[in-house]
Amino acid sequence: MGADLHIHSNESDGILSPSEIVKIAKKLGLSAISITDHDTINGLDEAISTSKKIGLDFIPGIELSSESEDWDIHILGYFIDHNSKELREYLKNLQNKREIRAKKIVNNLKNAGIKIEFEQVARESHGESIGRPHLARTLVKLGYVDSVQKAFHVFLKRDGPYYVKKYTIYPDEVIKILLKANAVPVLAHPLSNSNIDFIAPLVKIGLMGIEVYYPRYNRFKINKLIEIADRYGLIKTGGTDFHGSDPKINSKIRYINIGDITVNDKVVKILYKKAKELRKFQKIEG
Ligand SMILES: [Zn+2]
Ligand SMILES: [Zn+2]
Repeated sequence: MGADLHIHSNESDGILSPSEIVKIAKKLGLSAISITDHDTINGLDEAISTSKKIGLDFIPGIELSSESEDWDIHILGYFIDHNSKELREYLKNLQNKREIRAKKIVNNLKNAGIKIEFEQVARESHGESIGRPHLARTLVKLGYVDSVQKAFHVFLKRDGPYYVKKYTIYPDEVIKILLKANAVPVLAHPLSNSNIDFIAPLVKIGLMGIEVYYPRYNRFKINKLIEIADRYGLIKTGGTDFHGSDPKINSKIRYINIGDITVNDKVVKILYKKAKELRKFQKIEG
């Protein structure tokens, strides 16, 4: 029935645990899945052991965030070696930088007379990499606003008085980290940006695929992405970007389930082959 290569668990911003996701995928009869949490590998061990137990092909993945000028660029990494020292260091460093930023925003709020402590925000993050959503939820809990949306609007928006700029990570850096961890780098939802000129330079430094099949992409967009993939010899991946069903968050979006968008098993085989080549190359280099 194909493979869903883009799923989030509750280790980043999804609703279901890694084990729950694996079990659902098995029940649905999918041939393989990948869990690709934002900037974390914390769910992979659990997913790997559950998928071994119940017999489902599992591809360890991640979705790393980066930015270019004014837009966000997300890059997926497939068959990632989640024990890679460089990767673990990178993720730890990232978390530290996020904490520093959150602390700065807390200080700005405090200076304006708002009674908020960093520890409250940290508690709200439940170990996730800390960011504005956790600050927003804390402000709601403290009673300063009655919704997360309002918290963003009043206290946390980009051009607001308390805002602190994020530390910028460029996509080149992210691709290098993925290659070092033997992961196949694939550009997630390429049409989230109006401009696609940034793809060609990324191919030069090691981008190997783009996500062609994605919930919001109609036939026209898919065809456009197929053309780009073929032009640069890129692997065409796809997945649901499933986060879970929270009607409060997703009320306006058609609910999508695990496996609603899949690619065929050939794609998984190609990704596997590429990852194996990376491993061999690393061994020669090392
Ligand atoms: Zn994304
Ligand atoms: Zn995603």
